Amino acid sequence: MYDGLTRPQCSVLTQLRTGHIGLHAHLHKIQVSPTPNCATCPTPETVNHFLLLCPAYRQQRLKLIIRLGTARLTLRRLLAAKSEHKAVFEFVRDTGRLPRYQL
Ligand SMILES: [Zn+2]
Repeated sequence: MYDGLTRPQCSVLTQLRTGHIGLHAHLHKIQVSPTPNCATCPTPETVNHFLLLCPAYRQQRLKLIIRLGTARLTLRRLLAAKSEHKAVFEFVRDTGRLPRYQL
């Protein structure tokens, strides 16, 4: 499943899939962040919000849409299909939101 991916790429992929990642919704759950909400939006910063909805990453998402050739993004599509992982890593890197991953 993780053939051809670097260790940080495997790690971020697993964490995006499980939701156990450095976004506020998870950090709040494990009592590291005082709020579950996004820094930009009055809504929990979940993986779904980060990848698909947050307006703060509109530019990066547009690039993702162009690269994938479709605006019909779903978590399932982004995280399950092997061929799309590199575009997802590029999105994560471009947002600068999860800087501890060397993607
Ligand atoms: Zn947001």
